[in-house]
Amino acid sequence: MRIRTLFLCLAFVAVGLSSCERPDDGPRFLTPEEIERYKHQHTIKIEKYVEYRQGDCPVILTVPHGGTVVESFLTLRNTSNCPDPDFATDLDYNTRELVDEIDKAFFARTGHHPYMVISLIKRNHVDFNRQKSYAVPAGDTNIVIIYDAYHAYIAKAREEVSQTYGHGLLLDIHGQSHSEQIDLGYLLPVSRLNLSDETLDGGTYAASSSIAHLTRTNKEGLSFSKMLRGEKSFGAFLYRNGLECVPRPGNLSPGSTPYFYGGYTTRQYGSYGGGVVDAIQCEFRYSYRDTQSERLRCAAAVAKSIDEFTQVVW
Ligand SMILES: [Zn+2]
Repeated sequence: MRIRTLFLCLAFVAVGLSSCERPDDGPRFLTPEEIERYKHQHTIKIEKYVEYRQGDCPVILTVPHGGTVVESFLTLRNTSNCPDPDFATDLDYNTRELVDEIDKAFFARTGHHPYMVISLIKRNHVDFNRQKSYAVPAGDTNIVIIYDAYHAYIAKAREEVSQTYGHGLLLDIHGQSHSEQIDLGYLLPVSRLNLSDETLDGGTYAASSSIAHLTRTNKEGLSFSKMLRGEKSFGAFLYRNGLECVPRPGNLSPGSTPYFYGGYTTRQYGSYGGGVVDAIQCEFRYSYRDTQSERLRCAAAVAKSIDEFTQVVW
């Protein structure tokens, strides 16, 4: 685990934290007043809840829903304290294990490591793929600190990649159980994916996607629809490397199949609204994450696809 110690120290200073004590070591049988006071005396050890790995190439992997840590002193989210219209606490099973393998396969292939921001804390406490008012249980300042740290790491990685390389690709890694493919989310809902290539290329759809920058700058001059689901799209490489996904050539839109088209992270850190880092939300079907042998196969295919895709577009 390659935590950036200096950055963490700065983060602690920034939020006014000092020494570390174990939150679980408190006395028993506290009064409600003591519990309230005790909560506010804790120092949050960010590295217990969020893992950051420094990269050395323009690829960023984020994993918001694979965490399993639960703390008795942290508030649980519910529909009352989090007014999220898409409230969920589901664990994206084995996505942390999957990105570990993607990192290894990518390094074996390219000699480089992607930047990685990984949630270790369970989604019952915080949903990192939501805006803050929906992500954090109201009134829990400790969870706000954890949420802010997760996003500070992504912002730092995005800034570093932008400055160093002038372009970047962020993949927000999730797991879904509603279909037998990988949902690739570019911020285009199904109604837009159902449009013809001509219509997609003729309108302002690219600008409202998470790959607006790539569509303007890809070195082959590929149109938006080609970037999205043509022979050199990310989906095309995944499919040729053995992974079923949508959109891709021959599977242009999910149609009536359930589909996730992208969330807060994709919107916030992709090139929708500007910047030189593009983003794709990747929702892996269950069987690609289930067993170690499938994870290895899937990770090798993803690493190869990132390498091949970025060589075409950058
Ligand atoms: Zn998820």
